[in-house]
Amino acid sequence: MPQLHPHLVPIFDEIVRRNPGEPEFHQAAREVIESLAPVVERHPEYADAEILRRLCEPERQIIFRVPWVDDAGRTQVNRGFRVEFNSALGPFKGGLRFHPSVNLGIVKFLGFEQIFKNALTGMPIGGGKGGSDFDPKGKSDAEVMRFCQSFMTELYRHIGEYTDVPAGDIGVGGREIGYLFGQYKRITNRYESGVLTGKGISWGGSLVRTESTGYGAVFFAQEILRTGGDSFDGKRVVVSGAGNVATYAIEKVHQLGGTVVACSDSSGYVVDEAGIDLELLREVKDVRRARIREYAEARAGATYVSDGSIWDVPADVAIPSATQNELDESGAAALVRGGVRIVAEGANMPTTPQAIRVLREAGVIFAPGKAANAGGVATSALEMQQNASRDAWTFEHTEERLHETMRAIHDRCLETAERYGAPGDYVVGANIAGFTRVADAMLALGVI
Ligand code: GLU
Repeated sequence: MPQLHPHLVPIFDEIVRRNPGEPEFHQAAREVIESLAPVVERHPEYADAEILRRLCEPERQIIFRVPWVDDAGRTQVNRGFRVEFNSALGPFKGGLRFHPSVNLGIVKFLGFEQIFKNALTGMPIGGGKGGSDFDPKGKSDAEVMRFCQSFMTELYRHIGEYTDVPAGDIGVGGREIGYLFGQYKRITNRYESGVLTGKGISWGGSLVRTESTGYGAVFFAQEILRTGGDSFDGKRVVVSGAGNVATYAIEKVHQLGGTVVACSDSSGYVVDEAGIDLELLREVKDVRRARIREYAEARAGATYVSDGSIWDVPADVAIPSATQNELDESGAAALVRGGVRIVAEGANMPTTPQAIRVLREAGVIFAPGKAANAGGVATSALEMQQNASRDAWTFEHTEERLHETMRAIHDRCLETAERYGAPGDYVVGANIAGFTRVADAMLALGVI
């Protein structure tokens, strides 16, 4: 592991000591802290005001019981979380994740990442995250609705247009946001559109929000290619996952002239040299809610692999878009053997620190999620703008705003990396650019 600046060692040690059993939070914090050595040298005022120590402690953490009744009439109990991490730049902003793996450490790593991601967008949004260990898989619509209503019955008192604005993440899409918004509206007797983002188009949502994380990650990779005088034209691309981020990443790669030759779900992956047929993928995953094997069964020339790694498929560009730590050291080595040149994270922290080291040593350009997947939350901020002005923009206008934002984040990362002595390093650029924007706001607001 790279060394930490001596001033930062006690801060990291304190995080590990005070947050036991939260390895993902330690990992996310360490990655940011590792990048900050040149900032410590140049900005003693941040250390004097204990900015980093304050930033690593969430402003507020809420844990609550979520009881609900399943279709068989049995009472179920889940746990709900909302970690309101930092509101120096605006109301807490970040998604809700419903997945059995959710615990406090996972929500804290996601909330911590969100602070810097949101800062990088240049928009007025703080960072937070939430969710539950509820598993929507195999649940009926009625069960999901009852769960969401119970979840919101506690959450509503903590959120609001000017306080905290949740959205979706893994396991939370348009259906769940609908049930959550309905219950919020009912309890508060307010049609407060700006309290949640990712809403349906007919009730205050923004066009492009559904597509934005996947599209944004591809726009970011396109900027990297363009910086090297290249484009997606003719490129082989591997996209892990088959959810919202992956689906729209695949769509945008194809629009830009590349070919996505493999994608995956938690059961295995498919290889389709002719290019993933998005209509079929959606039919299998969204309509049938089936395993990805059915894609290969329905498509001539496609193969299904159940016991391998998608990173064995040779590609020019890889976009890990499934979940945290899905791309490990051996996966990275396989990508390098396959000739990969760019890895852009569509998911949050999908690449382990060891894998990042392997990629860096091989000269692969690595774009961290807090920069590459910021298009989702950036479009959420556009949804908030439309809600505040009671307006609704066209698809083309909103997509252009997303595209501009991704270009600006890309340029901000490169320019910051250069200024702090690490030219071409997107990790250093993203961490420092995000950190300094939040740190300056925290300095201005005093010790709060
Ligand atoms: N969950 C998404 C993320 O990881 C989006 C959050 C939002 O739109 O608030 O950035």
